Amino acid sequence: MEFKNIKVPFPIGVEYFRSGVPKKEVWDKDLIEIKKRGFNIIRTASYWNWMEPSKGDYQLEDIDMLFDLAHDNGLYVWIDIMLATHGSCPEWLIKEYPDICAVNYLGNKIVPAAHPAYSQGAMRHCYDHPAWRKHGGELLDHVIKRYRNHESMYMWGIWDGINLSTAWTNQGGNLPCYCSNTVRKYIKWLGNKFTLEQLNERVLRRYNSWEDIEVPRSNQNVLEMLLYKQFHYENLADHLGWMINHTRALDKIHETRTHGGWVPRPWDEICANIADSWGMSMSSNHLLAENDISLISDRAFSFSWARYLGKNNRWWNEEIYSGMSPGGVVWGHQTKPEELSILLWMTLAYGASGAMFWQYRPDYMAFESPGYNLVALDGKPTQRLENVSKSISQIKNIYNHLPLGFFNSQIAIMNHQLSHEIFTYNDQGDEFVKNLRSVFFNFWSKGIQSDIISPNTDLTNYDLILLPNVTIISQDILDSINNVLLASNDSKIIAISNFGLYSENGLSSYNPPDNFSEKLGVRVSDFSDITQEDIEKGNNILETSLGRYEIVKPTRYIVLEPKNKSEAIASLNGKIVGIENVNKNFSWYGFPLDSLSEQERFYNELIHKNNIFQQVCLNTEKVIPIVRKSNESGILIFLFNLNEKKITCEVVSKIDIKSSVDLINDKTLELSNNIFNVEIQKLGLSIIHCEYI
Ligand SMILES: [Zn+2]
Repeated sequence: MEFKNIKVPFPIGVEYFRSGVPKKEVWDKDLIEIKKRGFNIIRTASYWNWMEPSKGDYQLEDIDMLFDLAHDNGLYVWIDIMLATHGSCPEWLIKEYPDICAVNYLGNKIVPAAHPAYSQGAMRHCYDHPAWRKHGGELLDHVIKRYRNHESMYMWGIWDGINLSTAWTNQGGNLPCYCSNTVRKYIKWLGNKFTLEQLNERVLRRYNSWEDIEVPRSNQNVLEMLLYKQFHYENLADHLGWMINHTRALDKIHETRTHGGWVPRPWDEICANIADSWGMSMSSNHLLAENDISLISDRAFSFSWARYLGKNNRWWNEEIYSGMSPGGVVWGHQTKPEELSILLWMTLAYGASGAMFWQYRPDYMAFESPGYNLVALDGKPTQRLENVSKSISQIKNIYNHLPLGFFNSQIAIMNHQLSHEIFTYNDQGDEFVKNLRSVFFNFWSKGIQSDIISPNTDLTNYDLILLPNVTIISQDILDSINNVLLASNDSKIIAISNFGLYSENGLSSYNPPDNFSEKLGVRVSDFSDITQEDIEKGNNILETSLGRYEIVKPTRYIVLEPKNKSEAIASLNGKIVGIENVNKNFSWYGFPLDSLSEQERFYNELIHKNNIFQQVCLNTEKVIPIVRKSNESGILIFLFNLNEKKITCEVVSKIDIKSSVDLINDKTLELSNNIFNVEIQKLGLSIIHCEYI
């Protein structure tokens, strides 16, 4: 589909105006500066109770004014319509339909609350009340008709931060809504999926009738909660689809976009493909000050996941924050100006459709704008704005190379959202994500591209497939692994840690890894752990076919036993903790790899053993290479220097090249045998354009 386009390959915007802030008296001055600094878009988002304070009385004169002013300044507008996120619905809607309020697991109505991201009201209405689609649909209609023909109209933001209706206050208890509309819908959903007998078998209950069915109100009710959550995720996708279709019926030319958070969540995949593009908000506070480059890697992980999820790989990094702190001003934790440039460039290098900064001016003393956004409180530029606008002008200089092309990845890392879901029931959701990111980091830091994928991907396209914590063997996982095992190519699977401990309905497998015990040739004989005391006493030595390592932090592990001619490939204190099948294309390490000393050596061995092609090698620590194809010819090597000092880096290209030009400094670099040296500013970036021989 062709959208109305901004005629640049990588548009960049900044959030501006939300329900009254910034005040109109500063708009003229600000928009002139925004345009002057090279931005293309301003993004506006207002709460429902601000846009429709009385029923059918749409008060959008401020947004009209913003559209016109944007047009006068040669800027486009991206407008978020907040029917289902953040700010509250109007007070009149609650008065007219008291049962539209979301209800928490204790049966209590959610009461108005505030949050650092939405300082008044907070969302508390449930999408499952018919009045939400009726009155929300009317607002959606109104806004779309009002702006669809405006020359500055660019993008419909349809659902910012897709989440459950109870997620916007702490009253929800991290569980979904339990209002009567939602519960009725759930029971109907169950009825469409199961007979009563099938349901009883699935959740190990003996319900006598549909009227007896209890809605699970605790994560300890694992089997039923898995179903309740699945219903809710499908329900989110259904509501989103309704909004997107509604928008599309009235406007065929402007892009629709929706987004989740920067941390992957179990409902991302079901929702992402519905709109024209997917995106994320992303806290970006203070990442370079911690001397820990994995903080930047974690963002790159999200970019990779967003790219995988977006329809036709279309994704936006739509909220690069100039600062974020939980709950207010933390003066000592300003974002370094260089951080904003690095995140902008990395967004581009990961193939985003564009980028958006949040915000131009601080609005409240809240975590999204703790007094240090792109401009100072009086509207004067900060060093952060100087850095961003410099990067924008540098990006303009490489337009001829955009959009970037991607090489095919040899490596895939599986993000299995259902496994993530069950991890959260034991408060291990963060651990699940941490393990995923850690695997990604170890390839990213060497400039080796890895794709974050789901079970819906054909795994046989990859040489090496890593499964960190795929613990529920759902049908899609079963099929995708079997495809690899049956394929005649050289794809290899490495399962890590809690592989296959549960069967599809969430019950423990009695022959783990569920469905794969025979094929992998393994029996799980027990679970154990390495304690701090073990580490101190030296009872932490891991022998593997990839070398000898130590476990350096308290770690749980699985004790394995080979069968069917499989071989042990790792042992810990004499206990087997790693297995490879007889065909050598399926192995399992029963411990998380981030517990190892010298992880880097382990991954180097893994890369070497599996013939993973490393496109470039560097002689410098904390410089991250990313290699892409130029749209014109040859390749671009992005080099991110995450050191606090200027460095000279020797780059060895394993791709045969005949030239190397530093695009930032417009300088030809001396090249000999595919090797060149490049100087990179502290916390800076070089982009080297190389032609193939
Ligand atoms: Zn509800």
